[in-house]
Amino acid sequence: MPRAGRLLLGAVVAALAIAALRLPAPRVGRPGELLDPTVVRRWSRADTLGRGETLTALLQRRGFDPLEAANILEATPLDSRRLRAGMTIEVRGDSAGSPGNEVRFFLGVDRIIVARRDEAGEWRATDERLPWTTDTVLIRGTVQSNLYAAIDAGAADWLSGSARQELAWTVADIYEYRVDMSRDLQQGDRLRVVVERESLQTGASRIGRVLAAGLERGGKEVQAIRLEGASGRSRYYDQDGRSLAATFLRAPLSFRRMSSGFGGRRHPVLGTWRAHKGLDYSAASGTPVRTIGDGTVTFAGRRGGYGNVVEVRHINGFVTRYAHLRGFGPAIRSGARVSIGQTIGYVGSTGLSTGPHLHFEVLVRGTHRDPRAALQSAAGPALRGADLDRFGSVRRVAQQALEGPTGLVRAAVTN
Ligand SMILES: [Zn+2]
Repeated sequence: MPRAGRLLLGAVVAALAIAALRLPAPRVGRPGELLDPTVVRRWSRADTLGRGETLTALLQRRGFDPLEAANILEATPLDSRRLRAGMTIEVRGDSAGSPGNEVRFFLGVDRIIVARRDEAGEWRATDERLPWTTDTVLIRGTVQSNLYAAIDAGAADWLSGSARQELAWTVADIYEYRVDMSRDLQQGDRLRVVVERESLQTGASRIGRVLAAGLERGGKEVQAIRLEGASGRSRYYDQDGRSLAATFLRAPLSFRRMSSGFGGRRHPVLGTWRAHKGLDYSAASGTPVRTIGDGTVTFAGRRGGYGNVVEVRHINGFVTRYAHLRGFGPAIRSGARVSIGQTIGYVGSTGLSTGPHLHFEVLVRGTHRDPRAALQSAAGPALRGADLDRFGSVRRVAQQALEGPTGLVRAAVTN
C-alpha cells in the first residue's frame, strides 16, 4: 500500500474509532421507569396570584372548573380579601393528564394550607406550620462602603439575604441616638453583633432579638447591651451602663426608611454644611421625616426657598428645621406638641430644590450649628443600684460572646 493510502486508511480507522466512542450508550431506565406501569409519577405546577386576581380565577387558570375551584376554596380557611398578590400556589396531580388533586397555598415561609381531594372526590384542607428553631450567632463586619455591605459580607454564611437586611436596619435603630448610619460610618469601622437566628428546615432564616453589639469607629467602640427592664421592656446600654437612648436622634430620617437595601448606592451628600448651613439627605419623595426630639412646632407652612418647612423648638435652646417637604404630618401645625421620632412631614422638593431631598438645620440659641457636632449625644441616664448590679452580669456574658469566634454562640446570652 502506498504511503498516502496507509495514512488515509489510518485516518478512516481513527475516525471510526472516535465515532464508536460517541455512539450513545444503551439506555438504562432508572429503577421503575417505563418498566413498571403501576408506578405513579406526580406532577406539579407552581403559579402566583396576580394583582387584583381572585383565587377562583387562579385555580381556573390551573385547570379546575369553576365548581371544583369553589369546592377547593370552601375547604380552606383562606380569606381571599386578605391574600396578597404574588402569593405562590402549587397544584399537584398524579399521572400526566390527570387533573390536580392537591393544591398548596403558601401563606408565608412557615405556613402552607394544603387542600387534597380524597377518593370520594371531597376536598379537605390542612394547615401546615413549619417549626422555627432558634439559636444565637455572632456576626462580624468591616465597613468598606456602608452598613449594608458590611453586614452582607460578614453574615453571608449565617443569615439569609432578607435577614441580613433586617439586621442592618435593627442595628441602625439601636444606635440611632449615637450614630447616623447614613453618613457617620467610615471605611475600616468595625461591627460585631450577637443576634438570635430563627431558621426553617427549608433554609429560610430571620433574625430574633439583638442581644449585644459593638460598633468601633476611629478605634473607639460603643457597645449596645440589651437589658430586660422590670416592665418587660428591654433597652440597650453601653458598656458603662448608660442608656443608648438620649434627648435627640442623630438623624431626621430613619435609616430603615431612607435606604433600599443591599447594593444600594451610598447616599450622596448633596451640599456641605459650610455652603448653606444645613445637612441634606437624599431620599425618595414621600419618605417620612421625624422630629429628632420632643418639642413644640413653631412654624409649619411655606416659606421662600425652604418650600414647605417645619420648625420645632426643643429644650436647651435647640431649634430644628426640616425643609423642601412634600407635605406635613398629621396634626402638624404651629403650636402642636411633638414627641421624638414623630412624623412631622414627608420628603419632597418644594422651594429651591432640584430633586427630592430633606434639608435639615439645627440652631442653638439662634445660631446655626453643624448638626453632626450639635447632636453628638450626651450619653443617656446611667443605671443605678440593683439594676446596675444586674447589668454587670448581663454585660459579662454579652462581652464574652462578643469576643468569641464568629458564628454559632454556645453560651446562652439572655437576661
Ligand atoms: Zn440643603
